[in-house]
Amino acid sequence: MNILILGSGGREHALAWKIAASPLTDKLYCAPGNAGIAQDAECVVLDLADHAAAIKFAKSKSIDFVVVGPEAPLCAGIVDDLEAAGIKAFGPTKWAARLECSKGFTKDLCKANNIPTAAYRRFKGAGPAKEYVRAQGAPIVVKADGLAAGKGVVVAETIKEAEDAIDMMFGGVLGAPTWEIVIEDCLIGEEASFFALCDGETAIALASAQDHKRVGDGDKGPNTGGMGAYSPAPIMTAQMEKRVMDEIVLPTVRALAKTGAHYKGVLFAGLMITDKGPQLIEYNVRFGDPECQVLMLRLMSDLVPALIAARDGQLKNFDLRWYADAALTVVMAAKGYPGSYGKGSVIKGLDGAAQVEGTQIFHAGTVADGKRILANGGRVLNVCGCGKSVREAQTRAYQAVDRIKWPDGFCRRDIGWRAIAREKPVV
Ligand code: AMP
Repeated sequence: MNILILGSGGREHALAWKIAASPLTDKLYCAPGNAGIAQDAECVVLDLADHAAAIKFAKSKSIDFVVVGPEAPLCAGIVDDLEAAGIKAFGPTKWAARLECSKGFTKDLCKANNIPTAAYRRFKGAGPAKEYVRAQGAPIVVKADGLAAGKGVVVAETIKEAEDAIDMMFGGVLGAPTWEIVIEDCLIGEEASFFALCDGETAIALASAQDHKRVGDGDKGPNTGGMGAYSPAPIMTAQMEKRVMDEIVLPTVRALAKTGAHYKGVLFAGLMITDKGPQLIEYNVRFGDPECQVLMLRLMSDLVPALIAARDGQLKNFDLRWYADAALTVVMAAKGYPGSYGKGSVIKGLDGAAQVEGTQIFHAGTVADGKRILANGGRVLNVCGCGKSVREAQTRAYQAVDRIKWPDGFCRRDIGWRAIAREKPVV
């Protein structure tokens, strides 16, 4: 098959690495890709917002299957447009992608189908929203309805903070003013991510992961797109995974099917494991980044038939095999991230780092300049390790990190701390 991946981050590098390893793959393209992806696929310049250009390219290269990485093109309906042009594509339609693009839509769907999630109200104006906050008290969570690149959620510790968040969201600080916000109760527990593959009618479990959103050690400092992740999440026992499938994922897929919005693709459930059981915080309609990187390292089976079965509605009797080992990824970011940062600094030592046993490096934001690899984004590299325990995976990942010579970059030194604290000490 000729396969085209859309996207340019560490998630897409992990997908390219796994898809390139499939015996079903003849030729792999990635648009726009990065310097690491170029080792597994031919990178092509395409604007992902220009669906007509993607269709033209796919037709010109006889592409059999397109795998869409990021949420923005999914929410803009790229799968609908590719399929309408006769090109098979993996990912939800625009209608089904509302699970990520509209928090209000997802909350209403959960309520109507008894899917456990925090109690909430939707608001179109600041006045009633503030009244509700004052009546409910703090802590309370304020969310903008649309896609906001991770900046649309404020967990307010005080009523004043919640009121400021309401003004900020309706006032247009997030780029465009929000038309609607959701205000919901604050859930208490431990967060985990869970991934499932859906074919429109049913779903199969992929795996769990936990990520580190804050920029600094000890989970301190501003939020980022994710500074590291590991899989599996120790809190997601087999029993908890079954509950999440039965109480959250499958009811969602079935409810959408009933409305005609058949959900095909990866469903990424952000969960809070509370003392009452798993509660849905939010859905994303694609693999997480950097969670995808650790999932791909743990997946033993060929990914390509699984993605095709999801697209074709054939997951009912499908099975995937996983390595029992843990995988962990450390994100190396440009100094200054998640604020402003420079581009173009030289990264050395990648070949030496790749030699550390049990490691894999995925590129997130790099560009090649002849033989040199230059930083080209905020999150730049995903240095991954695998091992019998999260601790071993972490040790290997940091051994590789320490071989990378990049003075303009930084990383957290404690990725996986929560899981490692739970593991039995090595004797
Ligand atoms: P979201 O973009 O919806 O995943 O929210 C971003 C982060 O805000 C989550 O990862 C949680 O840490 C936090 N959060 C969101 N909703 C809630 C909630 N209802 N209760 C507690 N924390 C929340």
